[in-house]
Amino acid sequence: MRYHIWTIGCQMNAADSRRAADALEALGLARSATPEGADVLILNSCVVRQRAEDRVYGRLSSLKPLKARRPHLLIALMGCVVQEDVGPLRHRFPHVDLFFRPSQVEPLVEAVRRHLHHNPTPDQPGPHRLSPAPVSAYVPITHGCDNFCTYCIVPLRRGPQWSRRPDEILREVGKWVQRGAREVTLLGQNVDAYGKDLSEPIELADLIRSIHEVRGLQRLRFLTSHPRDMSQRLIDTVAELPKACEHIEVPVQSGDDVVLRRMGRGYDSAYYRDLIARMRDAIPGLGLATDVIVGFPGESDRQFMNTCQLLEDLRFDVVHIASYSPRPGTAAARLPDNVSTEEKRRRHQAVEALQTTVASEINACLRDHVLEILVESRQKGKWMGRTRSNKLVFFSHPDDLRGSLVRARITETGPWSMQGQLADKR
Ligand code: SAM
Ligand code: SF4
Repeated sequence: MRYHIWTIGCQMNAADSRRAADALEALGLARSATPEGADVLILNSCVVRQRAEDRVYGRLSSLKPLKARRPHLLIALMGCVVQEDVGPLRHRFPHVDLFFRPSQVEPLVEAVRRHLHHNPTPDQPGPHRLSPAPVSAYVPITHGCDNFCTYCIVPLRRGPQWSRRPDEILREVGKWVQRGAREVTLLGQNVDAYGKDLSEPIELADLIRSIHEVRGLQRLRFLTSHPRDMSQRLIDTVAELPKACEHIEVPVQSGDDVVLRRMGRGYDSAYYRDLIARMRDAIPGLGLATDVIVGFPGESDRQFMNTCQLLEDLRFDVVHIASYSPRPGTAAARLPDNVSTEEKRRRHQAVEALQTTVASEINACLRDHVLEILVESRQKGKWMGRTRSNKLVFFSHPDDLRGSLVRARITETGPWSMQGQLADKR
């Protein structure tokens, strides 16, 4: 018996898919590289923008002939496409057997287990070795979000925020490290609000401090942060703890105060600029990523230019750019989506061009520097790893270096990645 998982969307979905894969392998299923070779097929979906949603529907439709050819194939749909009332989805995609809300990994695995029990095949279940652990593992620490930014569908699909208990998280980190992971990234939609909803509230800074003690763990990251919840204490903790990487993802969304207010973000551009200054002050060599949305309802050319100005001034390492997409049920969906598609595309391209220049310039300064790299995988005949500030570095070496911390001299740089040469192994 084989399974195949197709995933789009955020790191939370990637973490859920990984968890599902591990659990299915524990049940005796082996991974299939293609949907055609699978007996259990899982689609982990995203609806954050219309384009993602359309991709999910396209994918679902394309599976119809496969299901007709192989009726025993079990198809499960998981993630943010699935709402409480699955009636409309069931009607539109009758070839889908099971539906699960975001992060409902355990019920999904239980349903597959029951299915296998009722549909035994000659070659199952057999003991299987689990796929090797990733060098860098995702660990969800909060689910849902309480923020209701006016454009965002996430709180509607994932529900209010709830934090996992620290002991449970620590156990999971320990398990990953035992399986060979060297780095963990703690995940949440609003990760710096971690712990506020627990019966014994704790802060992300405290959680990081206890995870830091896990033996064998070499690096620690967290994302995504909300500017309003990023405390000075958290910044100081990252600065202090050697395993905490100099890497923070803190979306600004817009550089214009009126747009920020209409997005319901809870801060203005002056606050955000001060926050970035405080983080850079405390954490030398900090790699910073942000998200921006272009073409929010009513965004004027001048308001868009304020976003460009902020990006030019603050010079991020990475900018995730999205064209505004109205999402049903959100507050912004009631406003006229009055920036034309062409204008959104123009603004998108303008930010892309600006950021390509900025990132090229930042990375060019790293040429000839020797940087610490955690080697994650092999890609196109080269080793791929990340610096502490989350920059991708590729280099050649004959040895198996997966999971090693190495030092590499940067020989070539570009806006999205760099090439290097091994300086020494640790
Ligand atoms: N929680 C994080 C935050 O506060 O920014 C990010 C989570 S959100 C799912 C990921 C990104 O998708 C956002 O940062 C935003 O830029 C983008 N996004 C969310 N809703 C969007 C929409 N309706 N149209 C375009 N982009 C959107
Ligand atoms: Fe969406 Fe805002 Fe929550 Fe991020 S903080 S998930 S953008 S509502």
